[in-house]
Amino acid sequence: MIIILKEGITEPQIAHVVERIESLGLKAHLSRGTYRTVIGVIGDEARIAATPLEAIPGVAQAVNVMPEYKLTSKTAHPQPSIVAVGAGPTLARFGGGHVGMIAGPCAVESAERMDAIGGAVKKAGANVLRGGAYKPRTSPYAFQGLGEEGLKILRDAGKKHSIAVVTEVVDPRHVELACEYVDMLQLGARNMQNFVLLTEVGKTNKPVLLKRGMAATVKDLLMSAEYIASQGNSNIVLCERGVKGFDSACRNMFDVAAVAQVHQLSHLPIIVDPSHATGRPEIIPSCALAGLAAGADGVHIEVHNCPEEAMSDGPQALLPDQYAALMVQLKAVAQAVGKTWG
Ligand code: PEP
Ligand code: MN
Repeated sequence: MIIILKEGITEPQIAHVVERIESLGLKAHLSRGTYRTVIGVIGDEARIAATPLEAIPGVAQAVNVMPEYKLTSKTAHPQPSIVAVGAGPTLARFGGGHVGMIAGPCAVESAERMDAIGGAVKKAGANVLRGGAYKPRTSPYAFQGLGEEGLKILRDAGKKHSIAVVTEVVDPRHVELACEYVDMLQLGARNMQNFVLLTEVGKTNKPVLLKRGMAATVKDLLMSAEYIASQGNSNIVLCERGVKGFDSACRNMFDVAAVAQVHQLSHLPIIVDPSHATGRPEIIPSCALAGLAAGADGVHIEVHNCPEEAMSDGPQALLPDQYAALMVQLKAVAQAVGKTWG
C-alpha cells in the first residue's frame, strides 16, 4: 500500500502516521518528493485493511497496490483456472482454453418441457442444461418456480440426456437441498451481493455460476467471487449478463469489455449471457458471437420450445432451431480463437 500525504503536512503529523503504521506491525518507508511525501507500507496489508488511514490528519489518500480480491486475482494464481462441472460423460469445462455452453429455459416448468428442451440443446452441442426451480422475480405475484419438484425435473432431464445441470439458488436455506440435485449452483444478478448466500455456496464443493449484478462494477463482481473463494470454494465461473443502461431498446447493456477486463485481472473463467443482457432474440446471436470472440469461456443462452407459453423470460428465448444454428457459428468462432469445445 502507498500512503500519499497532504501538501503542507507537518513533521509531527508525519511522525504520527509512521507511528500508526508501525503500531500495526508494518514497516513505513518514507519518500520525500519536492512537493509531496509518500509512505510505502511494507508487510501484510491485511493488518491495515480495516484501519481508516484516510482519517489520520495529513493523509491525502491510501492506495492499494495489491488487489483486495486476493484469491481470485491473477497475482495469486497467474494461470487461468479450469472449472469442471459434472463428471465422466457429463463433464463440461470452463476456462483455460475450454468453452462451456449453458442452455435451457429460464424456469423449470414441467417434466415434458424440460425433457424436450434438454434433448434439443444437448443435440445442438450444449454441455450444461439450465432451468430455474427458484425464480427471483421482480413481482411477488409472478411465477416463483416449482421448488424441489423443479430440482427433480431438472436432474431427471440431465440424467436422461447425459448433460450436467445448473440451477439458481436464491435462499441460503435451499443451498443444501439444491446440492443434492444439481452439478452447479447459479447465483443470480439480483443476489450478487447477498453476502450470506455467497458465503453459503462458498461452503459447498459445487461449482458456482456467479452472475454480475446489474449495477455492479467488475471489481464488485470479483469481490463477490472472493466471498465464495474465501470459504474454500474456488470453482467459480463468472458471467457477464448486462448492466443497466440508459437506452431501453435492450433489456440491459451488454458489456463485452468486461470479458477482457476479467481476463486481465483474474484467473477465473468468465462466460457471457446475451439473453439477459439484451432480452432480444434477434440480437442475442451477434452478442453471443462477440462475447466468444472477445475471449469468453462459454456462452449462456435461454432456449424454449414454445416461448409464448413460457412462465418467465419467454420474449427473450431462442427456439431450439435458432439455438442450433447459432451453435454452428459459435463453434466456428471457438475454433478461430483456439478454444477447445467442452
Ligand atoms: C436467469 O438466469 O434466469 C436470471 C434470473 O438471470 P439474472 O440473474 O442474470 O437476471
Ligand atoms: Mn431468465
